[in-house]
Amino acid sequence: MVKINSVAIVGGTHGNELTGVFLAQKFQRNLELVSRPSFNTQVLLGNPLAIEQCRRYIDKDLNRCFKPNDLENAALTSYEEQRAKQIQQILRPSNQLGVDVIIDLHSTTSNMGISILLSHKNHFLLNLAQYLSSVSDDVRVCYSSSSQSDSYLDSLSDLGFAIEVGPVAQGVLNAELFQKTERLVNAALDYIEAYNSRQIVNTSNKITIYQFISAIDYPKNAHGEIQGMIHPNLQFKDYEPLNKGDLIFLTFAGEEITYEGEFTVYPIFINEAAYYEKGVAMCFTEKQEIVLIE
Ligand SMILES: [Zn+2]
Repeated sequence: MVKINSVAIVGGTHGNELTGVFLAQKFQRNLELVSRPSFNTQVLLGNPLAIEQCRRYIDKDLNRCFKPNDLENAALTSYEEQRAKQIQQILRPSNQLGVDVIIDLHSTTSNMGISILLSHKNHFLLNLAQYLSSVSDDVRVCYSSSSQSDSYLDSLSDLGFAIEVGPVAQGVLNAELFQKTERLVNAALDYIEAYNSRQIVNTSNKITIYQFISAIDYPKNAHGEIQGMIHPNLQFKDYEPLNKGDLIFLTFAGEEITYEGEFTVYPIFINEAAYYEKGVAMCFTEKQEIVLIE
């Protein structure tokens, strides 16, 4: 077991996700809230210009700019590509030890409650996620493999993860979700403090993980124009089982489209506003139970 020496909390990686923006600003003004005796904590605003303009991004999605090759590519000079390189210098300066744990704060228009998004299934993150699930029963844990997630800001650390809360509209604050996010960050910091002093007590040796399988696009015509919407039966049903024959889309002509996969899946990010431009209507996940090994 290695000691955690440093933690970075990042808000406003997407400038219109106000929970993270205002929570990070609160922490910056009151660093004692996120300080713990055994490690250093720094708080960072991901995309200052986008925050100022209350937009997700200026030129491109910052949270897709952290692929190792892109960070080394001097030809990439958009605002976010340059900002990603700055953030790398802050969190993982060359020839120095980088920050150990990154907590990146996001919000979603989907009904994802309090979700923890892991890009690694290592021992530390799984145990932390299990602990956070035990703190509050509306916490869910998702995992997407590094081939999907190596462009994310939190991929700068093997112990990085994102907190995603919703549903809340872009550019809007929701007090309940703000407080739940703050409590979750505090619980994560307390866990790390206990981990450093070897006082961890996990309440269960099992954890439920929703593992990313694939992203599903909206029904579109040959010109790529959207032809339908999330079916009312599916709206806000993130993390609920979807079986063959269940309704997923309603076209503008009133036709109902069903899920035709053979296996039960658990959709997340259903009708996420920021994903229309990415051609993603929802993501299918597989529900897994993982046994934690001591
Ligand atoms: Zn986000």
